[in-house]
Amino acid sequence: MDMPTTLYDVIVVGAGPAGSTAARCCSEKGIKTLLIDKADFPRYKPCGGSLSLRTMSCLDFELPPDLIEAECTGVKVYYKDKSAAYKKPDRIAVMVSRKKFDNLLYERARDSGCMTLTGERVVSIENKRDYIMVNTEKGTYTGMFVIGADGANSVVSRFLNGGNRGYLFASAFVSEIPLLPSLEKDVLHFYFDDACSGYAWIFPHGAYLSAGIWGTNWNNSSPLDSLKGFLKSHNLPFDKIRGHKMPLWDRKRKICSDKILLTGDAAGFIDSFSGEGIYTAILSGKIAAESVSDCIINKAAVCDYEKRRYAVFGNNLRYALCFSRMVHKFPRIFLDKFASDERLLRRYIDNHASNTSYRNYIRSLIRLKAKVKFGKSA
Ligand SMILES: Cc1cc2nc3c(=O)[nH]c(=O)nc-3n(C[C@H](O)[C@H](O)[C@H](O)COP(=O)(O)OP(=O)(O)OC[C@H]3O[C@@H](n4cnc5c(N)ncnc54)[C@H](O)[C@@H]3O)c2cc1C
Repeated sequence: MDMPTTLYDVIVVGAGPAGSTAARCCSEKGIKTLLIDKADFPRYKPCGGSLSLRTMSCLDFELPPDLIEAECTGVKVYYKDKSAAYKKPDRIAVMVSRKKFDNLLYERARDSGCMTLTGERVVSIENKRDYIMVNTEKGTYTGMFVIGADGANSVVSRFLNGGNRGYLFASAFVSEIPLLPSLEKDVLHFYFDDACSGYAWIFPHGAYLSAGIWGTNWNNSSPLDSLKGFLKSHNLPFDKIRGHKMPLWDRKRKICSDKILLTGDAAGFIDSFSGEGIYTAILSGKIAAESVSDCIINKAAVCDYEKRRYAVFGNNLRYALCFSRMVHKFPRIFLDKFASDERLLRRYIDNHASNTSYRNYIRSLIRLKAKVKFGKSA
């Protein structure tokens, strides 16, 4: 068998939060790693830019203070004519610009010693018996493993799954708008009646606001028009609106073979209720690096990525999907209560930091209902 002259241990496709984390972790373990991205960094990424506490906790370094645009300690939820608010003494989320945050993760990967190629789009993957070929617009690279971290339209996922059709996608649009004096600078606002199975948001970012909308099942309505309508109804000006697909967890996607591992959006690891994806992107990048290093360094016979990542956050994504379907199917029961009973909101936020958050939350709702029924206060 002819082996290629330059053979990487692992080629990571995509340098967003999932890919840069995976590449850095591989490289720190001494694995010969190549990281490829179609964009030149720093690059723009449409996003609300909210890093939850659990996202912050899976960063294994301190976020530089100048990257933090705002620290949010409160949440306000709106549905129809109702609203509920919850404020904590300490922070619930940290707001960043994705351009700067992703660039930091990319630079950390590059500084860890992995080889990086930017401005080079991967166009196809070929599976050879003993290695994998990654073809870009400019050349061909070979590796023992490929970590697919190339986002919602992943070329690696399409290769592994034989296409990208039939999976659950949401659509999202976002705009950066000027500050509103009437809006608190440390509160995240969620509007549940403006989106289909998702929500509209206004997040404070220090010098500006991020206003956006995401959802599924738009049927005859357009998410872009819905965002424009939402902004108009709040007297908010808008200039550039940008959109992107959000692949939600739906269990159908294959996320791993003996040589390919999908991470982040490429694997569809977005939480179907909160729309949060940076957390699972970083976490899955780390888990993929551990699985690959076990095969390369410890000579493990099989890549157990699927088992490992399921043990860490698999069930929670499943519960998130069930919870989202339940809430949006019966909005008058759930959203109505969510936006009128501060206790439900508080419990959701307090549970959110853990990997069993949805199961715990659903259980706590049942307990709360029982207490209310028997006349006790929660
Ligand atoms: C409008 C919007 C708002 C959001 N708001 C939030 C939020 O506030 N908080 C949160 O946690 N999540 C949010 N999300 C979800 C979050 O942005 C994603 O889940 C997260 O970016 C996933 O990270 P990733 O590394 O998997 O993919 P990405 O961040 O999409 O990175 C993929 C990388 O792959 C590269 N790439 C793509 N194709 C190729 C190719 N063929 N060859 C080479 N490189 C390629 C891209 O250039 C990119 O750098 C939001 C999503 C959207 C669309």
